[in-house]
Amino acid sequence: MKNLPSVEAILATSPMAAVAVDRAGVVWLVNPAAERLLGVGKDHGLDGPAAHLLGLFGQEGPLEAAVRAGVPACEERFYHRADGAVLDLRVDARPLADEAGEACGACAWLTDLTEPHAVEAGMRQAEVSLRAFLDHTPELVAIHRGGRVVYVNPAALKHLGYQCADEIVGRSPLEMVHPDDRALISSRIDQMQRGWPVPLVEERMLRGDGSWLPMNVAALPAFFEGEPAVLVLGIDISDRKRAEAERERALADAQRRAAELECVLRSMVDAVFVCDAQGRLTLANEAGRALLGVSVPPASLSLSDLLRAKTIRWLDGSPALLEKLPLARALTGEVVRQVELRWTSEGRDLTLLTSAAPLRGEGGQLIGAVEVARDVTELAELERLKDEFLLVAAHELRTPVTITKGYAQALLRASSPLVEEEARRQAEAINRGSDRIGRIVQDLLDLSQIHLDRLELARDLVDLAALSREAAQSLADRSCGRIALGELAEAVVIGDRPRLAQVLANLLDNALKYSPEGSPVGLAVRRRGACAVVEVEDRGVGISVERQRRIFERFYRAHTDTPHDRGGMGVGLFLSREIVARHGGSMGFVSEEGRGSTFWLELPLAR
Ligand code: ADP
Repeated sequence: MKNLPSVEAILATSPMAAVAVDRAGVVWLVNPAAERLLGVGKDHGLDGPAAHLLGLFGQEGPLEAAVRAGVPACEERFYHRADGAVLDLRVDARPLADEAGEACGACAWLTDLTEPHAVEAGMRQAEVSLRAFLDHTPELVAIHRGGRVVYVNPAALKHLGYQCADEIVGRSPLEMVHPDDRALISSRIDQMQRGWPVPLVEERMLRGDGSWLPMNVAALPAFFEGEPAVLVLGIDISDRKRAEAERERALADAQRRAAELECVLRSMVDAVFVCDAQGRLTLANEAGRALLGVSVPPASLSLSDLLRAKTIRWLDGSPALLEKLPLARALTGEVVRQVELRWTSEGRDLTLLTSAAPLRGEGGQLIGAVEVARDVTELAELERLKDEFLLVAAHELRTPVTITKGYAQALLRASSPLVEEEARRQAEAINRGSDRIGRIVQDLLDLSQIHLDRLELARDLVDLAALSREAAQSLADRSCGRIALGELAEAVVIGDRPRLAQVLANLLDNALKYSPEGSPVGLAVRRRGACAVVEVEDRGVGISVERQRRIFERFYRAHTDTPHDRGGMGVGLFLSREIVARHGGSMGFVSEEGRGSTFWLELPLAR
């Protein structure tokens, strides 16, 4: 082949590996690049016909085809190098012609595809792995290329509520983003395509049902199916968002409630104090601070400090002990209602009506106590003045009533014929009227005495059986024989005879008043253990259940606005119970509307 020196020169200097064969298929040239690639040459024993060495010219090989058929042929073949390496070669063979244009062999360019093929295979493998990963990752993944979604993983379908990938694949990624977030997302895609880093952003993605799913989204460049694409990785943050919204709502709620409470506390006339479980004041509203004589909330003032700083006494003037203060009692878990205190503040004596209750945490543990105190100084003073007035008025009334009654009785006693029948009736009316006024006056007197704590009681031995007989006897005129004495056991108590008689008279009077004419009223005295029990029973109108609770209250009348109203001031039972209580006893009743009532009193026996 020495007749092709130009070919030889070109091939010998080419950086590409090349070999040339003659018409017989004998290798006559292996250029240096091919020697390096194939690991052959003179040093490797390549001298003379070496087609067998090359292994490139086997039957139907491209060089063979180029020599035999005189046409170019290209093929990829494996080449087993002497050092054991297997090369993946592309053999690009061309026929060669001599100067006369006669076919004289062929040459082949050898391209080593081993590495590119390995890279390709690696990439294919990587893609398979990536696909498997994307199909199973719980995060949301979508891939888009050229402005269209090309892949969406099962997790994304599930979170976004789509049935199959076809519902998303092919759509524009921006179309899947909330309109308000689109500008941000398209600028991110832009940035990413320029190779700039794109931070994580929050966006809302369209769900199958038309709602928007909040997500944290990262985008990164990727290869998908061998081509560059954008991989979008999303994390569903709807739970976090819900929790945030819940927290914000709860916070707003708590702030609103705190503001409401603050407003209520500020506008309250009553003083409010709150202390912690150790008894240190943690809150005092404006009224409370005014009582304490401070303008800012006291910082950790303890109850004992308070007791030292203020003179706190009970209404009778005795000093209050720390553990008896309402707040201190509430700290032991007790609910304290309506306790009156005298509180000396800046030289002024105040009367406070206080209530306190324990404060408990969610687990029920005691975390403090709250006290509400109302300044009732003026009310108490008014009440005192009213009682004082009643006392004075009753005293004042007593004298003219006594005089009127005296004259009426004198008139009645005079058996002179001068006193005509009509005048007698009038005198009797005056007499009854003055009795009635006298009773009212007496009731008012008793009432104010009790209220001012000035009721004095004798301590005599009183035989209740005898007293009952006398009570029945003294009402004989009115009762017309209706009072039926039952068991009258021997029962002697220590007490004030006239006051106890007053109680019995009141009970009998009520029983007669609130039962029909002719119906019997029972009176009995029994012994029960160390007590004597007096019972007055009637078969009258009774008292409705809802009114029974208040029956012993001052001025309460259970039959106002009913056909059974019999007048009266509603003080008899109040006085009776006070009198019995001051004898160390108690009073009660059972009653059924329309069937009658039984009132009873119980007193300790003297022996
Ligand atoms: P007064 O009889 O002067 O109104 P009381 O204090 O004695 O006052 O009685 C209060 C109220 O209790 C009465 O107004 C009446 O409504 C009711 N009451 C008292 N005793 C009886 C009774 N035996 N039966 C029915 N109601 C009674």
